[in-house]
Amino acid sequence: IMIKLGVIFGGRSGEHEISLMSAASVINALDKTKFKPFFFGITKEGRWKHFEGTAAEIESGQWEKTATEFNPGRLKELVDFVLPILHGPYGEDGTIQGMFEMLDIPYAGCGVLASAVAMDKAVAKDIFAKAGLPICKHALSYAEDFTLDKGKADEKRLKKEAEKIEAKVPYPMFVKPANMGSSVGITKAKDRDGLCKALIEAAKYDRRIVIEEGLDCRELETGVIGNHHPEAAAVGEILPSSEFYDYRAKYFDGGQSKVCVPADIPEKIKEEVRDIAVRAYMALDCAGFSRVDFFLEKKTGRVYINEINTIPGFTKFSMFSKLWEEAGVPYSQLIERIVDFGYERYHAKN
Ligand code: ADP
Ligand code: MG
Ligand code: MG
Repeated sequence: IMIKLGVIFGGRSGEHEISLMSAASVINALDKTKFKPFFFGITKEGRWKHFEGTAAEIESGQWEKTATEFNPGRLKELVDFVLPILHGPYGEDGTIQGMFEMLDIPYAGCGVLASAVAMDKAVAKDIFAKAGLPICKHALSYAEDFTLDKGKADEKRLKKEAEKIEAKVPYPMFVKPANMGSSVGITKAKDRDGLCKALIEAAKYDRRIVIEEGLDCRELETGVIGNHHPEAAAVGEILPSSEFYDYRAKYFDGGQSKVCVPADIPEKIKEEVRDIAVRAYMALDCAGFSRVDFFLEKKTGRVYINEINTIPGFTKFSMFSKLWEEAGVPYSQLIERIVDFGYERYHAKN
């Protein structure tokens, strides 16, 4: 039987374009004898549209020109299953997953709870810590505590906030909006002045801001799929083209950022990474699939969990896909397994 598969792409977040690339790649790889794809795009303004063109038009952004208004409440009339390929707020954070639950439609990936928790770097860290997983030193700030109306800095309170952070976290620091992705709004701060600027920058994206000790590290990632008995893929390494893996390095430096699959590290560290990845996945109650990211501290050889991305970049050449390819699961089969896990979870609950 043919599954009517709704692919949802675009979205209101800063990662709209990344989503278009992933969606186009997934659509091209779908086995058309098993899936009849339907396309739903969300514009940057948050409007839903039904699109009946090609993957190429989705990738280039041209889709918006011919797509027609669509009421997402009608999703279940058109499709059997949905595959949200959206990154960041209003896509990866549990909001759209909640809508799927309300509509009683099976979907790929994490549910409401895991999506929301994984997207919030502060709450996720608390849960990792409680599960006994290694995390780096960090602090949490609220934009309201150092800004005036319209995000303007309140210099006096900003200085106080910086002092409070300095008491908990050593320089250099990474300052991040709690709910984001693709390095949007993230700055590395080397001193007080840098910290203050970084806080104001992060406050543009979220009122909750996470400040972490900046580790001198290598970056490792693994993919996890499954529901109650998840499995980890191979372990890969990111070799960023700039000082850290920022938005440019991730998507625009003409492939100068390299990914190395499998990572050139001792087997023992790979096992540690895979073990922590599965435990972290379970701790957050993830389902379907996620990519779990790590830091390997150079001078100590210690492994720290950084974050779980519940909808990682998902082109054929993305890290997540490569890690599974390396583990023996080719791209189109990976998509099918993720759909199967979505159905399994739906039937387990219903
Ligand atoms: P995002 O969800 O936007 O990917 P991350 O927390 O993964 O945010 O941070 C983006 C990048 O910034 C990381 O891939 C890494 O290069 C760098 N980075 C973030 N936090 C740290 C840290 N504590 N120490 C060293 N590098 C970091
Ligand atoms: Mg992320
Ligand atoms: Mg990241």
